[in-house]
Amino acid sequence: MLVVSTWKFGYDANQKAWSVLQDGGSAMDAAVAGVTVTELDTAVRSVGYGGHPNAAGFVQVDAAVMDGRTLGYGAVAGLEGIATPTAVARSVMEATDHVLLVGNGARDFAIDQGFEPQEMLTPDARSAWEDWRKQGEDHDTLPADSHDTIGALALDGNGDLAAVCTTSGIAYKLPGRVGDSPLIGCGLYADNDVGAAVATGRGEEIARTCGAFQIVTLIRQGQTPQEACETVVRHLVDRVPSSAEHQMAYAAIDKDGNVGGAAVRAFPYAVTTEGVNEVREGFRLFSETD
Ligand code: ASP
Repeated sequence: MLVVSTWKFGYDANQKAWSVLQDGGSAMDAAVAGVTVTELDTAVRSVGYGGHPNAAGFVQVDAAVMDGRTLGYGAVAGLEGIATPTAVARSVMEATDHVLLVGNGARDFAIDQGFEPQEMLTPDARSAWEDWRKQGEDHDTLPADSHDTIGALALDGNGDLAAVCTTSGIAYKLPGRVGDSPLIGCGLYADNDVGAAVATGRGEEIARTCGAFQIVTLIRQGQTPQEACETVVRHLVDRVPSSAEHQMAYAAIDKDGNVGGAAVRAFPYAVTTEGVNEVREGFRLFSETD
């Protein structure tokens, strides 16, 4: 059994996910429960409740789940007023014959499924947004924590894999902007026969190469998860050199429990398995001073 989550805040998500696995929960149960902790954590300004709003002051979140057993996928994008979008994405996968719901339709569906609507903009996030507006709405002066998705990968005791990711996207984005996170193959991919991968970083760059799908394909062809993550980061930067101005990061696992992580810049990610509970530094293409 194994859980891997992006960023340092993935550590808390992993604790929850690991306890679900230990109680006999599925990889999907564990991954969703793990990232729900992050979605509800107001200290994390780039995910769920307490996330940064869009330019108009509304928190719009994106989330997705993928089930490695069936290649089943469900996602929501531009969802407002629901604090746990990953659970809604799971409901899209399990309770509809669609894969992606957006905007008001996603919100109406969530309410129909019993999710409670609530205000998502916390006083802290509102005051940071008001400061940004007073300073002239300059997109070059975003807060330090202006983005960062939590992506989680889980391998359960039955050998099943799940990948999930959830984000409020980029702070002060254009209303309606959707990043890579809810897009299958870009933000996440999982296939029980091979492995699973998730992405974080600037969605406009990540979406160019369908990197999560590429990583799983490269693992299928014989690369380790570490090699596959590095291959995809290098390929994107070689193919589109301007993308190197942004952060792009991937974490991956294979069906045997091997782990990898690589990024353009510093990328800590959390790994939890029997006897291991730690934050690792991913391979980075550039140091902070490059
Ligand atoms: N990938 C997310 C997005 O572009 C943000 C991030 O992970 O940094 O919406």
